[in-house]
Amino acid sequence: MKVDFYRHSLGQEDVASTIEAMKQTMLSRGDTVYEFQRKLAEYTENSYCVGLMSCTAALEFALILLGIEKGDEVITTPLTFVATANVILHRGATPVFVDVEAETGNIDATRIEKAITPRTKAILPVHLYGLMCDMKAIRKIADHHHLTIIEDAAHCVEGIRDGVKPGQLSDAACFSFYATKNITSGEGGALVLKDEELANRASCLALHGMDKSADKRMQGKFTHWDMNEPGYKANMSNIQAAMLLPQLKRIEIMLARREALGRRYEEAFSKIQGISMQKIPANCRSARHLFTIWVNPKIRDRCIELLQDAGIGVTVNYRPVHLLHYFRKQSSYASGMYPCAERIGNSTLSLPLYPSLKNDEIEYVIQSVTKIIRQLS
Ligand SMILES: *Cc1c(COP(=O)(O)O)cnc(C)c1O
Repeated sequence: MKVDFYRHSLGQEDVASTIEAMKQTMLSRGDTVYEFQRKLAEYTENSYCVGLMSCTAALEFALILLGIEKGDEVITTPLTFVATANVILHRGATPVFVDVEAETGNIDATRIEKAITPRTKAILPVHLYGLMCDMKAIRKIADHHHLTIIEDAAHCVEGIRDGVKPGQLSDAACFSFYATKNITSGEGGALVLKDEELANRASCLALHGMDKSADKRMQGKFTHWDMNEPGYKANMSNIQAAMLLPQLKRIEIMLARREALGRRYEEAFSKIQGISMQKIPANCRSARHLFTIWVNPKIRDRCIELLQDAGIGVTVNYRPVHLLHYFRKQSSYASGMYPCAERIGNSTLSLPLYPSLKNDEIEYVIQSVTKIIRQLS
């Protein structure tokens, strides 16, 4: 049997919606993007949403909007995708890593205060695998120290914790619609915000800093546009939005299937010695973006090889950022600094998890993992 690590869930209605968008005159940002922005704001219960080319652009814009500059420090987690740290570096700011909770892999809110210095400006939590961080605790710390919060919610469009959704307790939350994410347009992202002025500025930044989008300029007669600040090119297009709209409509149905698959994995692996997993607290609804198991670091890579030999797609999310070459070559980073993140980073492997994963496929993955772990232990 061959079980891909990921398969997207695009079908007939997404194809039809995309073709419809291709028949329109405006292929770039226009009404379909604005509709998607409204629908995503509604779904996540946030005031404003700006559709972008990537989550990375959303993170970068959030840092710009919230005034993060050269010399500032931004507190984040080492157990994340490199984009989280890269956007901080691109502002000329310094990522200050705080170790994660051993049971969830999320930034440990109880350790944040010790990392705050007079240069700290923001906290950038990442909702790992779709499990939201303790945003109530992080909000309290941010309020106490007058810091802003930007959420990397690339994994977490559907997540809820203590009744709170991404964006609701922070200044900005960033979503990804990259090829492997829960809903996708190949490439894509969005920023949700509470502040209308910031949302308008993000919208301008996404299109060179121009004060009128092309769709506005093309309506009726030509009108001149102006530029308020040098912007970027990172707007979402109508084609991307058209692909995303039907997926957003069935997002809960797709989540329900991943939830059932996640529970099946948990039930099976809880009986196997040598496998541990992210613990989802009772007050959380995980967006179930990734399903990972944590095994003995000594056998992790061999386990990956054997699973691949068995036809199963696997990957690693993530090797801790501070141990990647760029950081390691700076003498201020070394292994041992963030032991929980390092332990998870050295133990973790991600298994297939997507709505079209069939029952016989997940059973085959479970059998193969069980056999391999027993064989290597
Ligand atoms: C995918 C991902 C990103 C980057 O998303 P893009 O849309 O590809 O820019 C950022 N952070 C995390 C945690 C991710 O998984």
